[in-house]
Amino acid sequence: MNYKISKRAASLAPSLTLAIDSKAKAMKAAGEDVVGFGAGEPDFDTPQHIKDACAKALAAGFTKYTPSAGIPELREAIAAKFKRENGLTYKPSQIIVSCGGKHSCYNVILATCEEGDEVIIPAPYWLSYPEMVKLAGAKPVILQTTDKTEFKVTPEQLRAAITPNTRLFILNSPSNPTGSVYTPEETKALGDICVEKNVLIMSDEIYEHLLYDGAKVKSVASFSPAHYDHTIIVHGLAKAYSMTGWRLGFLAAPEPIAKAIDAVQSHSTSNPTSFAQKGGVEALNGSQEHLPVWLAEYDKRRRYAHAKLNSIPGLTCVNAKGAFYLFPNISKTGLKSAEFCAKLLEQEKVAAVPGIAFGADDYIRLSYATSMANIEKGLARLEKFCKSLVK
Ligand SMILES: *Cc1c(COP(=O)(O)O)cnc(C)c1O
Repeated sequence: MNYKISKRAASLAPSLTLAIDSKAKAMKAAGEDVVGFGAGEPDFDTPQHIKDACAKALAAGFTKYTPSAGIPELREAIAAKFKRENGLTYKPSQIIVSCGGKHSCYNVILATCEEGDEVIIPAPYWLSYPEMVKLAGAKPVILQTTDKTEFKVTPEQLRAAITPNTRLFILNSPSNPTGSVYTPEETKALGDICVEKNVLIMSDEIYEHLLYDGAKVKSVASFSPAHYDHTIIVHGLAKAYSMTGWRLGFLAAPEPIAKAIDAVQSHSTSNPTSFAQKGGVEALNGSQEHLPVWLAEYDKRRRYAHAKLNSIPGLTCVNAKGAFYLFPNISKTGLKSAEFCAKLLEQEKVAAVPGIAFGADDYIRLSYATSMANIEKGLARLEKFCKSLVK
């Protein structure tokens, strides 16, 4: 049988990360002592009070369809979060709850972009953005950055990339994969250009709470009513509450866009899981006490890993003030990222994600959402590997 694959599906890049990941998993299953730096998720458990709220809802039979955009209680809790933490006023009707922040991103792109539209994406980027843009039939326009600017695009770079076809600019701060954080001034400067040029901004703020070294962020929506009108904020519970498997994300948008996204969602996935939403309400309205504890632990690992990476011959690593990733430069080892990661896994049993997956072949991504003992063991092996390359 000769199966016809749609142009849209066929246009997607196969996942390079999956190849390494499945190899690492197979090695682990075979009893090998693999140290994994690949995780894109917290290593902590979901806080107990959140699990309890979900279990209670499930036991009480809260198991039916909900409104497609989420239960009113959760949309209100999200609106209250934006008011409390960001000083932003959204009506619950401007909030859509989706099946993960990834789904929120996809809904935004699908509801705003089409054939002929260009979407500006700074690289290194979260690997799903360009593929989502292609699925919508639009064209990703990649803005390359390097560690020299801490992986941040400059206002000049953004301005030069905007054409009459530019529909959307994707901003992700703190960033996956680099951990970079735009200062409020830098964020405003990019927002100003989008307002001036009438370009929408999709601001992915899922790592908002994971900040170190006193770093501060300010949502691009918050600088003026015009910035607010040009911004769609994408957010979720996965990272700050360790709820990756719950599949709960949300977005806040100008009313007409929220309405369009509600329509898209109502004909595709419908509502996110009913009882998970009850856990989401508890996450946002309940105790936030876990967060400083997690942040202290992440920060300890980050400081250790950052210093260690810079002591390894052939590697340099800029400081990263957010998320739970470091993105060291491997160019002095003479290897490109896919070969580097494949050999690292083979020779030293350390799994890392090649930068090429994020549009940056001179780097690898290391997640420090793993125990200090793993980090020490894995980086010692990485050091041995690099010493074998750099003579
Ligand atoms: C993890 C992540 C998301 C959302 O993940 P979900 O599990 O779908 O909620 C969105 N954007 C970035 C950059 C991420 O790293």
